Amino acid sequence: MAVNVSSTCMGCQACIPACPYEALYINEEGLCQVLPEKCVECGECIEVCPVSAINLPSAQKTVDTGATAGKTQLKETGFPDSESKGEAPVEVAAELTGDLARYRGVWVFIEQREGEIVPVSLELLGAGRQLADKLGVELAGVLLGDKVCGLSDRLYEYGADKVYLADHPVLRYYRTETYMKVFVKLVQQYLPEIILMGATTTGRDLAGAVATELSTGLTADCTVLDIDPKQRLLLATRPAFGGNIMATIVCKNHRPQMATVRPKVMKMAKPVPGRRGQLVTWQVDLKEEDLLTRVVEIVKERGEQVNLQEAEIIVAGGRGLGDREGFRKICFGLAEAIGARVGASRAAVEAGWIEQKYQVGQTGVTVAPKIYFALGISGAIQHLVGIRGSDIIIAVNTDPDAPIFKECTYGIVGDVFQVVPALIEPLKELLSKHKRDSEKMTGKGGIHCA
Ligand SMILES: Cc1cc2nc3c(=O)[nH]c(=O)nc-3n(C[C@H](O)[C@H](O)[C@H](O)COP(=O)(O)OP(=O)(O)OC[C@H]3O[C@@H](n4cnc5c(N)ncnc54)[C@H](O)[C@@H]3O)c2cc1C
Repeated sequence: MAVNVSSTCMGCQACIPACPYEALYINEEGLCQVLPEKCVECGECIEVCPVSAINLPSAQKTVDTGATAGKTQLKETGFPDSESKGEAPVEVAAELTGDLARYRGVWVFIEQREGEIVPVSLELLGAGRQLADKLGVELAGVLLGDKVCGLSDRLYEYGADKVYLADHPVLRYYRTETYMKVFVKLVQQYLPEIILMGATTTGRDLAGAVATELSTGLTADCTVLDIDPKQRLLLATRPAFGGNIMATIVCKNHRPQMATVRPKVMKMAKPVPGRRGQLVTWQVDLKEEDLLTRVVEIVKERGEQVNLQEAEIIVAGGRGLGDREGFRKICFGLAEAIGARVGASRAAVEAGWIEQKYQVGQTGVTVAPKIYFALGISGAIQHLVGIRGSDIIIAVNTDPDAPIFKECTYGIVGDVFQVVPALIEPLKELLSKHKRDSEKMTGKGGIHCA
């Protein structure tokens, strides 16, 4: 018996001096090879390999034939491009021993609805890419569904080196039972060290179920993710104690380390067209008749779609707008004039001036528009965590010491009832000039923010 070297080997030679038995060498193609007669499977090389290319034979069963349920089939569709590896791997895993050292790689759960990738999954591939590069490991997307194989190409373009695919009719609609069972089996087989999921209704449900089943740690609603490279720890930061402090949470003694992140908190990486990766297909062995839950009907919610997360310009109002009439006049007035969406602070929602679905912040939605107007909003931390992804924040407030002024790009100290009406006409003029200019350049209409 001997260790196996997979095709992800990039010939870095880190394993050669690590092997106490001189069982590894670099072949003519510059890749690592094993001398089976010398290898004793001590695992020293596995620990130093920055791309998790070396496995024990027991783990290698996972890239077997796929003939039986639960086994997998490895399909090569090309190699990850070297550019996406980013910075050189730092010295890692110095203090990892035993079981924990066997876990390698960063995984992102790829949420899809009716065959469409939910954008937060692509955002998490961007974040996961950075974590994986810091650890010097692979980034993988985990794609579950029915007839979703075609989505994998897009995942490589957004940073995944590998896609684990479970494609089966029982996975057509999200059910905790089916998704959790398949996900847990994949984890037990391939041992990732970090798993990221979107803090959507599905992601939150699945993350809790998977973490419980695996008896590991999960940090929900993270706003910042980083790595302690020495201990290979995920540093998961999130607001705590009602948003009054930012807590960095680590999961020292259990693997995988899990975190959920809300949509629009992380930035999507720029896709690299044509970037390729590996597809690993997992044969699902679940039968519909054995399952406890059944999807009888999908009922879609009717009513106005707010969709603040996709908005390019948001005009948000707070308690400083005085009352419902003030909110309507100032906030809706400016938003209608410039073609923006309306948002609100929790104070405005609690005052009953607008529905909860318009609330921005920790207990509302996280937004990332090109321009965010904060009108009569003080800038409490619970509001700020929801708007930090905005390109430009414009604040209007009578109080020069309001915390929003520390966060904004442009601040106007003044009364919204005087400032906003004075802004409307010049802004309308500016935007229609932009529209005319961009129509001339592209032949298309729409609002374009510089
Ligand atoms: C667990 C928890 C979760 C929370 N989640 C959220 C959340 O998701 N979103 C959220 O927004 N809040 C949230 N909050 C509440 C948050 O702490 C603040 O209470 C809230 O954001 C304040 O809203 P505001 O800025 O509109 O009101 P205020 O803090 O009362 O600020 C009003 C501002 O308007 C200014 N002003 C007054 N009159 C005028 C005028 N005429 N012109 C210009 N400016 C004027 C004032 O100077 C003041 O700065 C949460 C709180 C907790 C404890």
